[in-house]
Amino acid sequence: MAARSRVKDLQEAVICSVCLAYFNDPVILIKCGHNFCRSCITQYCQESKTSPRYPCPECREPFREGEFQPNWQLRNVVEIAKKFPEPSGERACEKHKELLKLFCELDQTLICLVCRESRSHKDHPVLPVEEVAQDYQVIFAFGTHPRPDRLEQSDQPSENRNPARS
Ligand SMILES: [Zn+2]
Ligand SMILES: [Zn+2]
Ligand SMILES: [Zn+2]
Ligand SMILES: [Zn+2]
Repeated sequence: MAARSRVKDLQEAVICSVCLAYFNDPVILIKCGHNFCRSCITQYCQESKTSPRYPCPECREPFREGEFQPNWQLRNVVEIAKKFPEPSGERACEKHKELLKLFCELDQTLICLVCRESRSHKDHPVLPVEEVAQDYQVIFAFGTHPRPDRLEQSDQPSENRNPARS
């Protein structure tokens, strides 16, 4: 199931590589674009006091203390990812015992098909879960990829212009 693996990807994308938990107050290293919890990176800097420049725990690109900034976008993604069903088992709606297959954009929460029909979400814009996971995956990829030019290179669509003849 492609949809489920995307959700799984998303779950992994919001995990800090230092503490292996969901990002808590994530910050992005300005130079290389990697994300860590603020507490993780602060502690990391304190522990490696020996040098004024610290290698990024992820890619070893050197950075100075303070050369990171809050990643608000990622923080939102984390908040949303926390609401996704665990990849190991699909979560059902507590109220209706239906699978949570939709994401209410207004409430930023997962809902089931019955919720969608209910009065509380009736006029709300909803998206299929897998689509949301993909969207946030894209945001995340661009937010963290150190060199977007490389992304473009590997992502070049092969232009196959069909001269619409049969
Ligand atoms: Zn962390
Ligand atoms: Zn890095
Ligand atoms: Zn429901
Ligand atoms: Zn709603």
